[in-house]
Amino acid sequence: MSYKVRVVRDLCIGAASCVALAPLAFELDSEGKAIVKDTVSQTSDAELLESAKSCPVDAIIVEDESGMQIWPQK
Ligand code: SF4
Repeated sequence: MSYKVRVVRDLCIGAASCVALAPLAFELDSEGKAIVKDTVSQTSDAELLESAKSCPVDAIIVEDESGMQIWPQK
């Protein structure tokens, strides 16, 4: 994994499709919002991008190794 991901908490609605697609990268916390797990590095870039694209509110930001945002597309 070389991509970096983060979750915009204010946007997350707890739909959990990211958790379903990348269970080693995301989990829901006690408030029902997604957080990035310590095991995120075990998820491939392709899977991270796929899970970010599955988020209905585009709450998952994906950046490449140079820090350029690749999802959501601006
Ligand atoms: S898919 Fe999006 S809205 Fe759903 S839990 Fe993940 S980050 Fe939150």
